[in-house]
Amino acid sequence: MHKKLFIPGPVEVRSDVLEKMATPMIGHRGKDASMLQHNISDKLRKMFYTHNDILLSTTSGSGLMEGAVRSCTLKGAAVFSVGAFGRRWFEMAQSNNIPSDIFEVEWGQANQDEQVDQVLASGKYDLLTVTHNETSTGIMNPIEEIAQVVKKYPEVIFCVDAVSSAGGSKIEVDKLGIDVCITSTQKALGLPPGLAICTFSEKARQRAEKVPFRGYYLDLMQLYKYIIEKDYQYPSTPSLPHMFALDYQLDNILQEGLDNRFNRHIEMAEYVRSWARKNFAIFADERYMSNTLTTITNTRDIDVGALNKELGLRGFQISNGYGKMKEKTFRIAHMADCRLDDIKELIGNIDEILGL
Ligand SMILES: *Cc1c(COP(=O)(O)O)cnc(C)c1O
Repeated sequence: MHKKLFIPGPVEVRSDVLEKMATPMIGHRGKDASMLQHNISDKLRKMFYTHNDILLSTTSGSGLMEGAVRSCTLKGAAVFSVGAFGRRWFEMAQSNNIPSDIFEVEWGQANQDEQVDQVLASGKYDLLTVTHNETSTGIMNPIEEIAQVVKKYPEVIFCVDAVSSAGGSKIEVDKLGIDVCITSTQKALGLPPGLAICTFSEKARQRAEKVPFRGYYLDLMQLYKYIIEKDYQYPSTPSLPHMFALDYQLDNILQEGLDNRFNRHIEMAEYVRSWARKNFAIFADERYMSNTLTTITNTRDIDVGALNKELGLRGFQISNGYGKMKEKTFRIAHMADCRLDDIKELIGNIDEILGL
């Protein structure tokens, strides 16, 4: 039996979107491929509220995270972390021999603009990474406040991991001055995994031009050049199935209306939060709760693995806590095309199983 996914990626994908993955192939060097990528980019610019270029990568989101820190750092990268995925970005920087420091807070807390200000004021860094929505802890960082501070440092390339929020929560890239905003298909966009997306500013491009060793496959300049010089082409063979499905899904997203979509996510989040407060506790600092997933502290000491097994028999799946937080927390994603009724059905089943 198929289990309906309430895990923070991959998410449940609508069957009409899945079907688009099976579109007959086209040549990737032809006009049709260019047109497909061009259309996708135009729609993504709307979703990201940006005029910047859009890069696609046949990797998951991590590919562009590694590509961004490697392609755009000259002096040093300041990596701000609020959980597992912030730490991953730091490990990427380190393993590419990029001078970098990590600034971590206790899990469940958010990054603060004052600390970002303090760190950037040292002058040691020309690239900053921030996790918008941390999928391990359920924290949504105060990106507007952080962005205000970053504007004081024009030499800093501002990179944002929006992998589990873009398409589910509003991120106004141009207004916030984000240079590289990264996401992947299998989270709030509601597609299967396998394609990463980022916005790419003129400032980021100028920086990348100065970086001597950007690698090859994940070099953002390479991805950019094929768009500009070859009219929206891709340097190697892209995942055309994802592109067909993404092009179609972006129509669905824009048709729903971005604000409607973001509000639907908030509505689902509020439902899960009030259930969590009543029966357990919310792990994240309540001032900075994610709109796309909720991490719940296991105050009742339930067996999360057993709960998930029981849910599986009923056709649902949630997530255990991430890494070291397994069994201590569990996670319910409310993202992509999930609706409030789906969430109510899930919670109803959890209540029944736990006798709540
Ligand atoms: C899932 C996730 C990633 C990793 O993305 P992949 O597409 O799995 O490579 C990075 N950051 C956050 C916040 C995520 O939720």
